[in-house]
Amino acid sequence: MAFYKTLLGLAAGTVFAVSGAFAHSYPERQINMVVPFSAGGPTDTVARLIAEKMSADLGQQIVVENVGGAGGTLGAGKVATAEPDGYTVLLHHIGMATSATLYRKLAYDPLNAFEYVGLVTEVPMTIVARKDFPPGDFKSFMDHVKANAATVTMANAGIGAASHLCGMMFMSAIEAQLTTVPYKGTGPAMTDLLGGQVDFMCDQTTNTTEQIKGGTIKAYAVTTPARLAILPDLPTAIESGLAGFDVSVWHGIYTPKGTPAAVNERLSAALQKALANPDVVARFAELGTAPSSAADATPAALNARLEAEIPRWKTVIDKAGVYAD
Ligand code: ASP
Repeated sequence: MAFYKTLLGLAAGTVFAVSGAFAHSYPERQINMVVPFSAGGPTDTVARLIAEKMSADLGQQIVVENVGGAGGTLGAGKVATAEPDGYTVLLHHIGMATSATLYRKLAYDPLNAFEYVGLVTEVPMTIVARKDFPPGDFKSFMDHVKANAATVTMANAGIGAASHLCGMMFMSAIEAQLTTVPYKGTGPAMTDLLGGQVDFMCDQTTNTTEQIKGGTIKAYAVTTPARLAILPDLPTAIESGLAGFDVSVWHGIYTPKGTPAAVNERLSAALQKALANPDVVARFAELGTAPSSAADATPAALNARLEAEIPRWKTVIDKAGVYAD
């Protein structure tokens, strides 16, 4: 018995020594950050800003890889099966929680296929249309969309995207079924909105603020309970008559299950530094958002958030009765 205990002790000591040395030297090479949506979209914008600052702290380059499709589930699935060696990370958003219910068959378990690094930011959404969309305010927009439900088109980034969630909530609020046009991200959806090929979408301020300010698209409402400092004239959906319409898009960084805790802690420390960087704070403010606090940019906080958000959105999704196979 004592012999086995010694052996076990030795084995545990070896593992500890290896992971300790690993954590000490980590990272030794480039890190791949998977963004499960197209380049140029809102998640990509957040990821590139954060990746640049985290790279500076880690002393190794974080390279963003866009793996769009199926509302973010393709990219997340890719990371779920990647080597848990600290060199593949995922930057995903609220879709991590909604896809757990939206997809009857998902190749991975959102809650258990990953380790957690930390929360990054929480981004408000806006309901925006092509520049020449006729209604003048949000109330007439809702009436117009409802009256023309057979012909109005709404863009989204696929089932599981934030634009899908917000669009689904909007359709259910106005009791209309619209034709949706899915993209691999709202980056390309914005291109089509600017070109007038699609009528409207619900998208994050990180993708819409500059277009709204530039007058290249028409904005009707913001989806948070309070107006935004950066777009003070834009009414909230709630004040325009959609009681309880409240959605904002939290983002987090994950690693594949089995990634050493010391690595996740190291990444979390770099994330906290990046979020405190004045350039990041300023750029986020220009885009209508703010960095998560240091306390939230931790593995425990992200884990707790995802755990709370899966049942929260399950109630909404089950009520809407929308699922993907
Ligand atoms: N966040 C997605 C993107 O970056 C869009 C979405 O979730 O609606 O394209």
